[in-house]
Amino acid sequence: MFINQVSLQNYRNYDHLQLDSFAAVNLFIGQNAQGKTNLIEALFVLALSKSHRTNKDKELIAFHAEQARITCEAEKKYGKVKLELNFTSKGKRAKINGLEQRKLSEFVGTINAVMFAPEDLEIVKGSPGVRRRFLDMEIGQVQPSYLFHLQQYQKILIQRNNYLKQAWSSGSKDSTMLDIWNEQLVEHGVKIIKKRKHFIHKLQGWAETIHMGITGGKENLVLSYVPSFGTADEEDEAVLFEQFMVKLSQVKEQEYRRGATLAGPHRDDLTFHINGNEAAVFGSQGQQRTTALSLKLAEIELIREEIGEYPILLLDDVLSELDPYRQTQLIETFQGKVQTFITATGIESLNTERLKEAQIFHVHQGH
Ligand code: ATP
Ligand code: MG
Repeated sequence: MFINQVSLQNYRNYDHLQLDSFAAVNLFIGQNAQGKTNLIEALFVLALSKSHRTNKDKELIAFHAEQARITCEAEKKYGKVKLELNFTSKGKRAKINGLEQRKLSEFVGTINAVMFAPEDLEIVKGSPGVRRRFLDMEIGQVQPSYLFHLQQYQKILIQRNNYLKQAWSSGSKDSTMLDIWNEQLVEHGVKIIKKRKHFIHKLQGWAETIHMGITGGKENLVLSYVPSFGTADEEDEAVLFEQFMVKLSQVKEQEYRRGATLAGPHRDDLTFHINGNEAAVFGSQGQQRTTALSLKLAEIELIREEIGEYPILLLDDVLSELDPYRQTQLIETFQGKVQTFITATGIESLNTERLKEAQIFHVHQGH
């Protein structure tokens, strides 16, 4: 897919911006705090309906404004599509070709984007919550049904936790009530777990090959799913259902005491091993960064497999951190296939030889 046009209105530090033409590779150059990240964040938001930086949509609205708007025109395999997202303090509304979408999940994934930003290092180094967010965003982008199950699961999880807390404080445990919550929690939880396992399995295939390439055949990257019950490779829904139910009955008393649900996809994790050693614990900074990069590049291929065309690639401040060999490797891998948007504070830090045909935009104070 190819982005032809973008406009921003009262989005972050942009009052009004209209960009009417893009190339296959686009460079946004500017000093710190001028709006480079804001601009490619807006493209990411058009793909996923939320930012990679925050869960609070309100932060996207310019300080002085009530409402923010992002629009774009994209060229997809099957034709042109116009997207529009409006944010107010009350919520967001989405349009495809001028038609208001009743469900946001129908808007998400109309265009697809992969973002690689400095904070992605946290996917390798950070807490399990960061990795779950990574999984949720990436799977949700290509499978709207995943988002549906995730939303349902999160809603039920809150209600179930409230019930557990209240039952403990009032001293009246109602097992019929808990059974009802369990049934619903497990129904959606199993779908999430199954889709995550499937995604990780496929991501592994690409990530391993790409990582081998980047490291000149020296490093073998292995991704493993760490479930809160059962084994990592079990994908049969009936078996998962049974295992989840058994696990919940085992932790029941503990759950009452803690007032929290102690098993399920909200407690899953994902680990990365390089040549047999866990990257989060033993990996060097460079190895961790390369692992995160391999994951993102693998995702590009995965999206293409899933939807039949390449997503756009957003590289925020990361190209200049790679050595010239890796910069070249990265640009060449996707040249001519993936429309790319790159931010940097100066052109000098980039391997410009490979970026000869790039279109350069100078970003200065939101213009
Ligand atoms: P760097 O090179 O440091 O990464 P950048 O060009 O990527 O800089 P951005 O992250 O795009 O900078 O931010 C540009 C400016 O936008 C910042 O000064 C930030 O405070 C401002 N900003 C962020 N959110 C809003 C908002 N809701 N309203 C107005 N300004 C905002
Ligand atoms: Mg930035």
